[in-house]
Amino acid sequence: MDIISHTLTGIAVGTVAATISNRSLKSKGLIILAGGLGGALPDFDAISLWSKFDSTIGSFLGLSHSGREIYSGKFWYSHHAALHSLIAPIIFILLATTIRGLFSRNYKGFDALNRFKENRFLTLAFFFGFLFHLLEDMPTPASVWGGVNLFFPSSSYIGGFGDIWWWNNYDLVLIIVSVIISNLMVNLIPIRFYIIKVRSSLSVFCIGLILFLVQINTRTVDFSYSGPTVNYSELEAQSKQVQKEILGEKLFKFMTAVDNKIPLNF
Ligand SMILES: [Zn+2]
Repeated sequence: MDIISHTLTGIAVGTVAATISNRSLKSKGLIILAGGLGGALPDFDAISLWSKFDSTIGSFLGLSHSGREIYSGKFWYSHHAALHSLIAPIIFILLATTIRGLFSRNYKGFDALNRFKENRFLTLAFFFGFLFHLLEDMPTPASVWGGVNLFFPSSSYIGGFGDIWWWNNYDLVLIIVSVIISNLMVNLIPIRFYIIKVRSSLSVFCIGLILFLVQINTRTVDFSYSGPTVNYSELEAQSKQVQKEILGEKLFKFMTAVDNKIPLNF
């Protein structure tokens, strides 16, 4: 799936954590951002596709493979590898806690457990934002990876089902955006209705998740392929046709126009 949909999913996760946190507006904003960051971060392993990768990072690290080879390879730093595993967000969380501890004004008095408790909503939003990214990548085609390396350092890859195309999943994006907007509105309900707010927020998220799963499992085209793509543009055109059938001419046109304005695959 594309990085925009993943980031939006992380933000949606963050809105639920923000409701549960019952904290200040600033705190809630940070929790939502942490969710978005968790949703986006796994795809930073696609940096090897950057046009200047070989002449900068590649040569600095003395890598013997080109960025393109790394991207579609099975190295631990390839796309869908270690950064698409459950251990990755845990390492990021531990690193962030340690770094914060080192730069804490009161280093000797730094209590990692207390700090973790204090930041639990931020941490949970980040972790679940990250986790949902990994789950969302599973129904995409197997391609050269055969899924995501969920249990790294194990060498098994999970997913690659080919239920959806890599991008152009406008119906899914609309579901995610609806969850975000609904949950932001839930946050406007007065604090004295806290229990109702939490239940509403969780319900909105669960309804979104069910709709998401229904849409994924009812595509009329099978997008599965493994290894290098043979008929990439044909499958991409079919994916767009599927969206046109789901959304109708008007909404499809609108989403295509939005897509064309964004300089990233979406
Ligand atoms: Zn990914």
